[in-house]
Amino acid sequence: MRILLDESQLNEGVERLAAEIDSHYGDRPLTVIAIMTGSLVLFADLIRRLSMPQRVGVVRASSYRGGMKSGELTVDAQMMIDVTNRDVLLVDDIFDTGKTLDRLSGMMHEFGAASVKSAVLLHKRTDHVVELRPDFRAFEIPDEFVVGYGLDYLDMFRNLPYLAVLEPAEIEKTAA
Ligand code: 5GP
Repeated sequence: MRILLDESQLNEGVERLAAEIDSHYGDRPLTVIAIMTGSLVLFADLIRRLSMPQRVGVVRASSYRGGMKSGELTVDAQMMIDVTNRDVLLVDDIFDTGKTLDRLSGMMHEFGAASVKSAVLLHKRTDHVVELRPDFRAFEIPDEFVVGYGLDYLDMFRNLPYLAVLEPAEIEKTAA
């Protein structure tokens, strides 16, 4: 495994992200929505660093169907909370094609949100297929498949405290 960002770098990145969000919203109450499952670890770290009063909810989106390639996007909003007339901040692990945040941001508007912004830990340097860009982001990373700090390969590696690129041998071993 090749470490891309270690624990202290991630820590510092989340700190920066929280400071930017804090200075944008000030004391305004915020409805913060985790896009599961990838943002699980980031979300827990981020919301504890934000200073404004918060409502917290989750929505599930998946496009990486048991592997590394992006498939069809499915959204499960059964666990969503009411966002009518609320300022919403969507939190995701990584911005790749942008389809996930684009779809969910549209959905929040449909649910009646007063405003919708998004925060991601990682922004991949790749071809984005949508016009939307995340409003807050901690790191730019190269176009490589990464795991750790919430991000998985076949539901493994989410628990790693660092962000890493898998070696081909590890990919084979995990898929076996
Ligand atoms: P997008 O819709 O922007 O293409 O992709 C967003 C979702 O794809 C992320 O929330 C994440 O779950 C998954 N994803 C994109 N790139 C990676 C990656 O490098 N590693 C992992 N584990 N998941 C990724």
